[in-house]
Amino acid sequence: MRIAILAERAPGESRVAATPETVKKLTALGATMSIEEGAGQAASISDEDYRDAGAQVLSAAKAVEDADIVMGVQAPDVAALKGAKAGAWVAAVFDPFGQKDRVDAYAKAGYEALAMEFMPRITRAQSMDVLSSQSNLSGYKAVIAAANTYGRAFPMMMTAAGTVSAAKVFVMGVGVAGLQAIATAKRLGAQVSATDVRSATKEQIMSLGAKPVFVESVEGIEGEGSGGYATEMSEEYQKAQAELVSSHIAKQDIVITTALIPGRAAPRLITDAQIATMRHGSVVFDLAVSQGGNVEGSVADQVIEKHGVKLMGFSNTPAHLAADASALYSRNLFNFLNAFWNKEAGQPVLDEEIGDAVRLTKGGEVVNERLKG
Ligand code: NAD
Repeated sequence: MRIAILAERAPGESRVAATPETVKKLTALGATMSIEEGAGQAASISDEDYRDAGAQVLSAAKAVEDADIVMGVQAPDVAALKGAKAGAWVAAVFDPFGQKDRVDAYAKAGYEALAMEFMPRITRAQSMDVLSSQSNLSGYKAVIAAANTYGRAFPMMMTAAGTVSAAKVFVMGVGVAGLQAIATAKRLGAQVSATDVRSATKEQIMSLGAKPVFVESVEGIEGEGSGGYATEMSEEYQKAQAELVSSHIAKQDIVITTALIPGRAAPRLITDAQIATMRHGSVVFDLAVSQGGNVEGSVADQVIEKHGVKLMGFSNTPAHLAADASALYSRNLFNFLNAFWNKEAGQPVLDEEIGDAVRLTKGGEVVNERLKG
């Protein structure tokens, strides 16, 4: 059983799908690990570190030769898999709704594409969930980046020259990233408020010492919603939410937006007119910028000034924390393979619940239910 790790090819991608820690653990299961030269460089892992952990460090073509499994952060192009075994598994983030052609190419080439972002949100899969591990770091980084761009301090400071007041931070969307954003802003000393469409988040917001700001006139999503994901809201809800946000946002210094709906463009949460009501020097960080954006006018990887307010967001936020993001991502992959490792077969054998959820292609066909119709 050979597991290959290629260097990431996507622009700006600094993460890597295995670390020396996971190389050791996968080797202990019986796998031979082959890593492309330089694959860990941007995540502060040297070829020497991988060799010391027991991996073979090879050219891309050699690393992938005879591989049973190829692991990536972002799925490689099919051409990069030349030489891998027929029907090899490729475990990575595929962006299956956005990159349908790539999914078709995997099917045609006969590989088994396993989309890590399709991991079901069930308790036993939590440790394999790359969306959660990467969102957690993204929520943290969004606050740190916004604080860095903000020309004022976060905590209240009483100095001999007078008092600096605490920044007011508003977090929109309280999933994994939003909760970490709240916790980070609190640690920095800000006054934090937050909102979501799911009523279950109210308690979570309060447990972190922040203030919930919720639409009460129209019902949102009771409890956790389907599989923890939000769905598109009614027009009536969107109108009530816009009114609530308008009255709240004018008093905020920093807004962090994190709202996503899987497979669809991110919902628009902040309009240009609402931005115009904010204080000059305020910062809006749009974590959904690469999925269409929660904020009107935000542009990935740029700081755009509108009405004296700075709008920002990264196309790949976890890549700004490459070492930690790689460590967590590669543990997710290890946990996934380890949970299904069959000792007699010397390879992982997926069960139906998780296998059917993550498998996009098999035997030359696109087989995932979410991609059909
Ligand atoms: P997400 O990235 O899908 O979305 C971020 C947040 O934005 C969500 O809380 C969502 O409700 C909110 N949102 C969507 N549309 C909105 C709108 N119009 N206005 C305001 N907010 C909006 O969410 P996530 O971080 O993946 O987490 C969602 C839930 O799933 C959480 O409760 C999380 O704990 C749970 N979860 C469970 C597991 C598991 O059990 N294995 C794994 C991951 C997440």
